[in-house]
Amino acid sequence: MVGITLLMLLLACCCCYFSVLDERTILENLDARYSNDQIYTYCGSILVSVNPYHMFNIYGLDMVKRYEGQPIGALPPHLFAISSTAYGRMMKNTENQVIVISGESGAGKTEATKLTMQYLAAVNRSGSSTITEQILEANPLLESFGNAKTIRNDNSSRFGKYIEVFFKQGSIVGARTSEYLLEKSRIVTQAPEERNYHVFYEMLAGMSGDRRKQFGLTSPEKYFYLNQGGSCTLSSRDDSDSYRMLCDAFQVLNFSRQEEETIHKILAAVLHCGNIFFKRIMVDNHDTVEMGSSAEVKWISHLLELSDDWLKQALTQKVTETKGDRVLTPYNIDQALDSRDAISKALYSRLFTWLVERINMIVCRAEREKSSSLAVLDIFGFEDFHVNSFEQLCINYANETLQFFFNQHVFRLEQKEYAKEKIEWSNIDFQDNQPATDNSFLEKCHFHHSDNGLYGKPRMSHPEFHVNHYAGKIKYSVLHFLEKNKDTLRSDVVELLCESKNKMIAQMFKEMRDRFINKTLNKATGRFVTMKPRTPTVAANFSESLLSLIDTMSRCNPYFVRCIKPNNDKAPMSFERSVVLDQLRYTGMLETIRIRKMGFPVRVKFHHFIERYRCVLRGERIHVNHLPTDVCLMILKTQPSHLVHLYRIGATKKSYVREDNMVKQKWTN
Ligand code: ADP
Ligand code: MG
Repeated sequence: MVGITLLMLLLACCCCYFSVLDERTILENLDARYSNDQIYTYCGSILVSVNPYHMFNIYGLDMVKRYEGQPIGALPPHLFAISSTAYGRMMKNTENQVIVISGESGAGKTEATKLTMQYLAAVNRSGSSTITEQILEANPLLESFGNAKTIRNDNSSRFGKYIEVFFKQGSIVGARTSEYLLEKSRIVTQAPEERNYHVFYEMLAGMSGDRRKQFGLTSPEKYFYLNQGGSCTLSSRDDSDSYRMLCDAFQVLNFSRQEEETIHKILAAVLHCGNIFFKRIMVDNHDTVEMGSSAEVKWISHLLELSDDWLKQALTQKVTETKGDRVLTPYNIDQALDSRDAISKALYSRLFTWLVERINMIVCRAEREKSSSLAVLDIFGFEDFHVNSFEQLCINYANETLQFFFNQHVFRLEQKEYAKEKIEWSNIDFQDNQPATDNSFLEKCHFHHSDNGLYGKPRMSHPEFHVNHYAGKIKYSVLHFLEKNKDTLRSDVVELLCESKNKMIAQMFKEMRDRFINKTLNKATGRFVTMKPRTPTVAANFSESLLSLIDTMSRCNPYFVRCIKPNNDKAPMSFERSVVLDQLRYTGMLETIRIRKMGFPVRVKFHHFIERYRCVLRGERIHVNHLPTDVCLMILKTQPSHLVHLYRIGATKKSYVREDNMVKQKWTN
């Protein structure tokens, strides 16, 4: 029996599986199920989740228990069915698993991630409760620092995350989070009705008046970095409550008093930085600046424990060293404002990475060796805004890469599998943009790609180009592209931050410097005279981390959850077909469906099939000499003849198919 398996597609006996696979039917099905409060639907092995914007009581311990140990399809579609199957498979085969959750902003990815983590914590009965609690507490902490209110989602994650949970003998022994592309522009600018990262508002709402004074802080409306969106409070979120939760998380994750204090100091310094303003002055016929007020600079120097003059200098003039000489070039007002914002972005984003590393240090223990893992990927979905810029290109590139991973898994592996099983079927073409989505397309100017069929040249008058993504054609504006891609903090500013008397701050920036900057030692003087950035552009870094992510994921058994937003108004239980249809395309679902329509998506091992369906033999004798395939055949022959063409037996497996015109019954074993 070992190695003998059977491939079959469960017949479309319940409507949670799509029986007729086309766009209209899928929409109708999703709509009908949704209006019946059924937010989950399977499409093959993919779970489609339509955001209810309303909390159903379907995630309690009773549901955890109900789904535990049940294969997909045994019970109504549910996120826990995926978690439970992944967990079961990891336990059984000690094979790493990954649940890839995708969808556009507000579709429910982060909620699904949290629910999956809660499921894992709930089935982890014998594991350490401390580590489990720490893993769960890392979430509100990262949400405070990495989530913000946008027009699409009051709690929008502005970074991608990959959380691996490590298990030994079924118990959680650790976890590790990797973060991708925190949105940096938000730290210094916000669109109307949007906010900066939650943590700033939480801190100001939750700290006592005395403590605020200690950091020189007042209310959020007073800070340029917090008030640009015009709304500092949120109806759906109590900032001072969240602040209490954040402080609890610091405790559970063993942050020291000093670490906590320094985190607050950095946050306060960023806010003071945003309120720095400049006066334009002319010096020797050059447009230069002087500080508008010294109060902010004093606070920042105090908080970051730096010498008084460094910041003024960093904000008003550029320092270059050539052949051992320091040359000072005064800034004009735009350059001064840019350097102010660059410092704020560096402080905050460095703090964010530090936090993730710090959490990993606590929750990612040494026992990880010889453990197996179940990972969840919660990453921004495909974006097509009115104006698409560098951020959208990165995000869409990530989606393209993930789509490739998905295609590779679903399509290529399936095709390989059919070949192996000697099952006849026609190879299916799918849009595979892999050759176009390389580094160069992100890094180089568009003319490098003008020969590429997936690339569109800008019209003469427009600074834009377009890319034919798998999800459709997207137009990108190249305004600020290069700056956004460079995003390097001046090396002299990094050096200054390394000089902080606060050990944690100094260490944070020393690590940053060592990671990104090559220093050249002048042997004659024994001093570091030049600093050469290793030119890791944002796109190159991102691309590298994505490839490494794909590499990790390709060693896991994947599951796919596609989250769908049913309307653009965050309205509970309102299904707008046009809104959903766009997403079916963007999530690659229609492509998937095309292949599923022709394929054999569900496989059941012979003995499982026999166990489950032998009842239909109604006592008919199974002889000891009967091979498992014989028994399967006996079972299948009890079925009406018009179903005969819906399955196949492969060399080692058997499958069901649905398309009448495609299949002639053919036993290959
Ligand atoms: P995304 O991460 O895809 O941007 P979120 O997971 O943050 O989206 O979901 C946005 C909002 O939608 C949540 O704050 C919540 O109000 C609602 N939501 C998402 N998933 C569910 C769910 N399964 N049940 C109820 N409400 C949900
Ligand atoms: Mg999210």
